[in-house]
Amino acid sequence: MLFEDLKRLVNGTQLPLHEVVLSYEMLENGEDPQTLKNDLSKLLKIMLEISDKIYGKKFQTLTGLTGENGFLLSKVDDGLLGEFIHCAVVTAISMSENNASMGRIVACPTAGSCGVIPGIFYALKKIKKLDFETLLNGFIVAGGIGEIIAAKATISGAVSGCQAEIGTATAMAAAGLTYCMNGNIEMVESAASISLKSLMGLVCDPVGGFVEVPCVKRNGTAVGVAVVASQMALAGIESVIPFDEVVDAMKKVGKSLPESLKETALGGVASTPTARKILKDIIENLG
Ligand code: SF4
Repeated sequence: MLFEDLKRLVNGTQLPLHEVVLSYEMLENGEDPQTLKNDLSKLLKIMLEISDKIYGKKFQTLTGLTGENGFLLSKVDDGLLGEFIHCAVVTAISMSENNASMGRIVACPTAGSCGVIPGIFYALKKIKKLDFETLLNGFIVAGGIGEIIAAKATISGAVSGCQAEIGTATAMAAAGLTYCMNGNIEMVESAASISLKSLMGLVCDPVGGFVEVPCVKRNGTAVGVAVVASQMALAGIESVIPFDEVVDAMKKVGKSLPESLKETALGGVASTPTARKILKDIIENLG
């Protein structure tokens, strides 16, 4: 699937983008659109239910390096963030800490990046009070963006760095958010493109190989990127580079990243003196 194909179909049929995404899936993979819609509806419901349960909670994670960040942020007022982003970031961080404590998540698109999309959709539900059908349509559009990246490049941090995990989640979230806020297909494309460009080159460097540091907080800050990219696109700011080309560029960057920056925990913040000491302490405690 290419974004260009989606644009051509939307402009040619005048069907809404979410319906075109479902139809395209049928053409490409033979999936019945209604069945796919039902499956995505179930996933979104589960994601929103989990978000409700874990919002601002404390977690006992594998290393103890994270687990209280969502709680801490939930205890202060929205301050610099505003109500929508505050809710989205608390959800994203809490979901990521829930993952780090082996809690139930929807890996959307991956476990490491599981906070960004729930963050945006839970805030759309809780703060913007959008109905489920609108959220589902946005979720389908987000899925289309993820599908394009997975088909053209990868969504694996081990293959292309965190740009492929959190970068993809952020592009999906920005696209879904823009669609939920009545953005047209050009705006959806720009929101996804601006997000992915903003996180291009992001390395995968989990301390000790645990999906906690820097992953948990990165899920939170990525929400900010998604919201800003979406608001820019909704204001009419266009991405100069089309989405399909941004994905190609991301793939090339991924190929040029050294192995130390692809989930091996040998580079980035994972190779700092503090990270090495933390890992040594964890191993000693285990022994
Ligand atoms: S740093 Fe690596 S493990 Fe952590 S979220 Fe990013 S891609 Fe996943």
